[in-house]
Amino acid sequence: MSNAVLQIKDLQVHYRTENGPVRAVDGISFDLASGTRIGIVGESGSGKSTMALALMRMLPSAGEIAGGEMLLDGIDLARLSEQEMRQTRLSQLSMIPQGAMNSLNPVMRIGRQLIDGMRAHDSSLTKQMLQERAVDVLQRVDLDAAVMRMYPHELSGGMKQRVCIAIAISLSPKVIIADEPTSALDVVIQRQVMETIANVQKELDASVILIGHDIGLMVQFVDQLIIMYAGKIAEIGTIEEIFASPKHPYTQMLISSLPTLETKGIFQGIPGIAPSLLNPKPVCLFHPRCPQAFEQCRAQPPKLARMDSGQLAACHLYS
Ligand code: ATP
Ligand code: SF4
Ligand code: MG
Repeated sequence: MSNAVLQIKDLQVHYRTENGPVRAVDGISFDLASGTRIGIVGESGSGKSTMALALMRMLPSAGEIAGGEMLLDGIDLARLSEQEMRQTRLSQLSMIPQGAMNSLNPVMRIGRQLIDGMRAHDSSLTKQMLQERAVDVLQRVDLDAAVMRMYPHELSGGMKQRVCIAIAISLSPKVIIADEPTSALDVVIQRQVMETIANVQKELDASVILIGHDIGLMVQFVDQLIIMYAGKIAEIGTIEEIFASPKHPYTQMLISSLPTLETKGIFQGIPGIAPSLLNPKPVCLFHPRCPQAFEQCRAQPPKLARMDSGQLAACHLYS
């Protein structure tokens, strides 16, 4: 895609453990087009946060980028020096980390936290510019300027999450990664926070990577969807392509398990447990849970391939 702001090519991320490397992200490739929103869904442990942390170059010490490229406007983030990466974070690429609202400093006023964040990544801003920008970004996320003087404990969960969004957009990044931005919030607030993210994305003409569990909430806010399973992409396509004709059995199960009026909003889940990512066998890792598994699935891993309906899916049923 020529207008891609971010291109991920065969990204591999491992965690070193006593028993060998955990292949948390195992050969992921996708493009993020400028000014669009892409959603990443997958169950716990599928590698979503690992991928986001790799992009930000904020992996924990056991984690390493073992291969591939992460091109932001053609520049490989994996090759930047620590200093260059610090300048890139917040101003080009920023993240609202998983559980961000609980990591606000409890003894520091919100305004200070916003200003310190900006100053750490852009030393050219004057005191007055920092102050004005902090008020501006709070207003962009529908918070009053009075929040500047407040402490985190004075804010509701939804307001704290808005502060985290404000911090992430404070230097107008091109790409915003939001890792489960609504998971701790109630349903009404979830929707409002998602709308705020969508609004700031449009205003800044940024691109967004939205990570979550809830495919139902996700579809209303993204253009494209990536379904991850065990560190790999199971399926990727536009919302229309995937919902009109889901190809991968895991995607089909995710979509058919979406709550309906009859099931009264309870997410059904997919039976079975997630596979270990320690020395995974060269097979389709979904086969123990797949109702359509056959011989080939236990013999070799499927490759992502273009489907007639437009999207890409990794499944032997179509090879
Ligand atoms: P969730 O939906 O629960 O947030 P996730 O999709 O974000 O899950 P990750 O947190 O990226 O998943 O984890 C991917 C895999 O990497 C998991 O198997 C996890 O156990 C493993 N992992 C994560 N952090 C470490 C670590 N520091 N050391 C070893 N393994 C790790
Ligand atoms: Fe199921 Fe086989 Fe497709 Fe894997 S490759 S999802 S086991 S049918
Ligand atoms: Mg996660």
